[in-house]
Formats: sequence, structure tokens, C-alpha cells
Amino acid sequence: MIDCLIIGGGPAGLTAAIYAARFHLSVQVVDAGDSRAEKIPLTRNHAGFPEGISGVALLERMREQAILYGAALIAGRVTNLERGEDGFLATLSDRGISARTVLLATGVTNRRPLMDEALHAEALRQGRLRYCPVCDGYEVTDQAVAVVGRGPRAAREAEFLRGYTADVSLIGLTGQDGLDDAAHARLDAIGVKRFAGPVRDFHLERDGLVVTCAAGRLRFDAVYPSLGSDVHSDLARALGAAVTEDGCIKVDAHQRTSIPGLYAAGDVVLGLDQISHAMGEAGVAATTLRNDLAARAPLLR
Ligand SMILES: Cc1cc2nc3c(=O)[nH]c(=O)nc-3n(C[C@H](O)[C@H](O)[C@H](O)COP(=O)(O)OP(=O)(O)OC[C@H]3O[C@@H](n4cnc5c(N)ncnc54)[C@H](O)[C@@H]3O)c2cc1C
Repeated sequence: MIDCLIIGGGPAGLTAAIYAARFHLSVQVVDAGDSRAEKIPLTRNHAGFPEGISGVALLERMREQAILYGAALIAGRVTNLERGEDGFLATLSDRGISARTVLLATGVTNRRPLMDEALHAEALRQGRLRYCPVCDGYEVTDQAVAVVGRGPRAAREAEFLRGYTADVSLIGLTGQDGLDDAAHARLDAIGVKRFAGPVRDFHLERDGLVVTCAAGRLRFDAVYPSLGSDVHSDLARALGAAVTEDGCIKVDAHQRTSIPGLYAAGDVVLGLDQISHAMGEAGVAATTLRNDLAARAPLLR
């Protein structure tokens, strides 16, 4: 029986691991190896790295720091989580882990447009395909940018990007953009160009990403798919934890879920999907679970 099992080894899970290990708790991190942070070619908004840092390098440093203080990192996927005698029992393909507390830091996955996998990876690497205007809108300042999506979410994203560049287009992914006249008028008033889908093709060229839609071939410096995310809250939902309509895990101000002993942090919780936010929530979660354990039985050295 370990003190804390952390499911997910992205920025949230690894921050919590560093804190928990430094609280002298026994801690294991199980990670399926698909962190959104790993897909960041170079983050330039993460404080403390004026030259930027790649997601891979940041995670590597965090893993090193967690291991330094005694956290165990396990590659694998937790397929089932149930309540046990004095905590929880997690099932992996090759073992079970019993833990007094569990922190879910399982993140989300961005929905992608239909696109060849290799093309997607290369476009992402070159910054022609981007998923997060809050993260990297600055990098497309005064460039030609398109948002591909549908409905109010895509319209909000186009309007947000208009704060960086005057050349913003909104392209309906599958056909019409799913917006009413008032929304069209608002976009027109701020100069967002509107194109009907369906988007038939993406093509990477030396000077941009070409999108083929009803209007023909359109070239952009960068394209932001705005298709929403799938939230990895299945383990929490199976335990009966409260989630939002979108599937984000509900937590109190100290990152406690509605299930005693179960905590959540990072993108899987409703809030700003950013590394800094994930880390902040994880620090709070680890401190809370440490103090909740101490309330059960004093943690003495
Ligand atoms: C292209 C791109 C660029 C971005 N740029 C920036 C940026 O510049 N600045 C910024 O602040 N943010 C950026 N972000 C957002 C940032 O990556 C996320 O906010 C951050 O990674 C969230 O951390 P997390 O730990 O909550 O989730 P993640 O990093 O996604 O980690 C979750 C981990 O949990 C694992 N997992 C899920 N389910 C299980 C399971 N059942 N068992 C075991 N493991 C499991 C996953 O495999 C994954 O490794 C960007 C995201 C993308 C996609």
C-alpha cells in the first residue's frame, strides 16, 4: 500500500510527484506516454525559459527531478480503478497497485481534423498547425491564420486570434459554420473572413499550410483546428466522481474530487489548459492529499 498513486505523467502528474516525494510520501506515477506537453515543439509562454523550451525537454527535466526525490515512474496505463479497504486498487496490464490516495492527472486529447498522421506531426513541428492560441497566438502576430471548426467555440477562437493579426479566416470544417446571423455580424464587424467547408484536404507547402475547401485552395501561415477535446475522466466517472457536462472532473478549491481520497489536477479538471495552471493545481493537490493523510494518522519522521 503506497501513500499516493498518480495516474498521468504530464506537467500536472510530475509536479505532484515532486511535491509528494518531497513530503516523504511513497509515490508512484503511472503514465501511458501521451502527454499533450510532448507535442509542444517549443513553448515560449512558460515562465522561466526566455528562449523557450520543448515539451519533451521540460518533461525530461521534471521526470529527473521526481526520481531524484524518490518517486517511482512506471510506463503503463491504468485500466481500472476501484475503492479498496483503506484506499484504492488500480489495475495495469501487468500488475495491481494499492494506494491510500490517488491523483488523476490524465489530461485531455485535442480532436484532430482528418489528416495523415505524418503530415499532422510535420505541420505541428513547423508551427503550421497549432492547437492553442493562448499558448502561441503571439507567434502568429500579423500572419495569415485560419480557424477550422464549427459553432461558437470556433468563432470565439477566431475573435481571440484577431487580437494578434488582422488576417483571420474561419472555415467550417464539414460545411456551414453552425453560427447564427448575430454571430456572423460580429465576425464581419471585426473583419474575420468566413469560408464554408467541407475541408477536403490539407497540404503542407514551403510557405504555409494549404486548405482545400468550397472556396478553393487557401494558403495560411498557420491553421488552428477548433474541434474540442476528449477529456480522460473515465476512471473518475467509473468511481462515481462528479464531472461537468463536458466530462471535466469537478474538484473543490483544494483539488479534492467528490470521492474521498481521490484528487484531480491539470487539463482533466475544468480550467485554463496550460502548463502553469496544471502545475499550480498539482502543487495544491499534493499538499492537500498530504494533509488529508496526516489528518487520518500523523505523518511523523
Ligand atoms: C500543440 C500544443 C501546444 C501547446 N503549447 C503550450 C504552451 O506553449 N504553453 C502551455 O502552457 N501549454 C501548452 N499546451 C497545453 C499543455 O500541453 C497542457 O496544458 C499540459 O500538457 C497539461 O498537462 P497535464 O499533465 O494535465 O496533461 P498531459 O500533459 O496531457 O498529461 C496527461 C498524461 O496522462 C496520461 N494518461 C491518461 N490516461 C491514463 C491512464 N488511464 N493511465 C496512465 N496514464 C494515463 C497520458 O498518456 C498523458 O501522458 C500545448 C498543447 C498542445 C497540444
